[in-house]
Amino acid sequence: MMLQRVRPRVIKLKSPREIGLMREAGRLVARALKRVGELAVPGATTADLNDAVAEIFREAGATPLFLGYPNSLRGKPPFPAVICSSVNEQIVHGIPNRRPLRAGDIVSIDTGCRLNGWCGDAAVTLPIGEVGPEARKLLQTTQETLHLAIRAMARCRTWSEVASLMERYVRSQGFSVIEKFVGHGIGQDMHEDPQVPNFVSKQLRQHDFQLEPGLVLAVEPMVAAGTREVRVLADWWTVETRDRKLAAHFEHTIAITEHGPRILTLPEGLPEDWLPPAPGATPAS
Ligand code: MG
Repeated sequence: MMLQRVRPRVIKLKSPREIGLMREAGRLVARALKRVGELAVPGATTADLNDAVAEIFREAGATPLFLGYPNSLRGKPPFPAVICSSVNEQIVHGIPNRRPLRAGDIVSIDTGCRLNGWCGDAAVTLPIGEVGPEARKLLQTTQETLHLAIRAMARCRTWSEVASLMERYVRSQGFSVIEKFVGHGIGQDMHEDPQVPNFVSKQLRQHDFQLEPGLVLAVEPMVAAGTREVRVLADWWTVETRDRKLAAHFEHTIAITEHGPRILTLPEGLPEDWLPPAPGATPAS
């Protein structure tokens, strides 16, 4: 969501039962993104991916959260699709279309649904066929930024500590953190307090928040290969980098529990308490 000036903030903590309900919504989002990953090959269109996700949500009786979402620009059109699909230099909020994806493209797919009153929200950036070395490094860095944030949520006490680690890691790889858009609290509504930036600012230091059980956040690093400056296209939605260099976006919905962070948008087949391993760590067998 777009970074906003701070207003009075109400963080709604969730009970274990509510987190369980959010996990159901999150798993459905994960299933939709898994299907997208299977379909995103050269020649497929982002409209195809949108249709597949719409069908998965419809079959499960879930409400898509993005379709009809109001434009933050007054009087401009609501979002017209179930997924955001942002290709190459596009960062977020791209509108699906009938142009075939080509080998070497990268496409960020972001989607969310409400199931039984509770929301899930997640995003991945996918390589289409074989992609170049810079694209590969950008995807890996952005996903690793999300993963290190999740691991850090197990030991950090405040969000600014996590955001600082994210920002430093992105910079260490020679990339930049998009600052115009941030993560968010999530629950019965997709966008709840607090705002969850992927960088540290004076605003965050003044309005930092504790990582306490019951907090549920959509954490979503957006990383650019070049400038962090963005512009919105004439469709009033698609956000791209000003220098038109590549951008990537990964997102999970994550709950803090008494036992540590839990990823609610985990794909099926992984245990509920699965956390991403540190780079270079030997996976447990
Ligand atoms: Mg989100």
